[in-house]
Amino acid sequence: MTSISKKQTSIGKILETRESRMGALIFLVMLYFHVGSLYVFKVGFTWTAFTIFLVSYFVKITGITMGYHRLFAHRTFKAKRWFQFYLALAGSTAIQGGVLWWASHHRGHHQHSDLGEDLHSPITHSPFHAHLGWMWSKECFKPTKHKMLDFARFPEIRFINRHYLVLILLQGVFFYGMGLALEYWFPILETTGSQVFVWGFLLSTVWTWHITFSINSICHLFGSKRYESHDESRNNWIMSILAFGEGWHNNHHKYGWSARNGFFWWEWDPTWYLLKAAEKVGFVWDLKVPTEEQLRDTL
Ligand SMILES: [Zn+2]
Ligand SMILES: [Zn+2]
Repeated sequence: MTSISKKQTSIGKILETRESRMGALIFLVMLYFHVGSLYVFKVGFTWTAFTIFLVSYFVKITGITMGYHRLFAHRTFKAKRWFQFYLALAGSTAIQGGVLWWASHHRGHHQHSDLGEDLHSPITHSPFHAHLGWMWSKECFKPTKHKMLDFARFPEIRFINRHYLVLILLQGVFFYGMGLALEYWFPILETTGSQVFVWGFLLSTVWTWHITFSINSICHLFGSKRYESHDESRNNWIMSILAFGEGWHNNHHKYGWSARNGFFWWEWDPTWYLLKAAEKVGFVWDLKVPTEEQLRDTL
């Protein structure tokens, strides 16, 4: 067998199944975003582009923490239907998979935390696998046991879950178009289509990715344990700053049904503060929190 046909055989093997083709696609998309983010050095810095980056990061990370995680995966509160839809949409902009897919995998993580069936445990797999590699594995695309029937009954949630790939393309067009519009109508802002595309779309996505993925990798390796959670989850204050309160991961693994992850005033949890504000204006209600006695049940 020549080396070319050997190569063709191994590529053919990699792309043999639907799961492996999906894994290869995810790998290429992630590679594109990472390489594309390096273009910040070419398009340069402006305060306009940086502000757009921050707003984009805010929408993506709160869509993940408040929406994908605390609402869809854990049902820690109830939300008005339009707000529930907004959270699914905001979470989808973070490009971490469709909302039902993400939440069902996350339920699996809690059920099998740091055991064999946990796809992204740095204890049973390598830290790199927990952080990124699991998304290219075949297991990632096999149907999960968690069918998400509680949210799949909403047609708009099924729609956004199914058409999530189209949203990625629309998001790219949106940021490029916004940059072109600012360049044309507000030249004083000194930005361009490609600069807004790189800062608002590519870089903010990669930044939010690594922050979210670090909850899987870093927060099961580094930090302190306050509660017996039968896994290696840790409280990590640095990750809580970056991930809007999700770094209180040992707290979260102990009381996953809680809408609040930072249990004390000194545990910075912006997602919780935003939820309290949303509760005040009536967007959300029934926010679940542990009792004083449950909080005292420490190691
Ligand atoms: Zn975890
Ligand atoms: Zn969780």
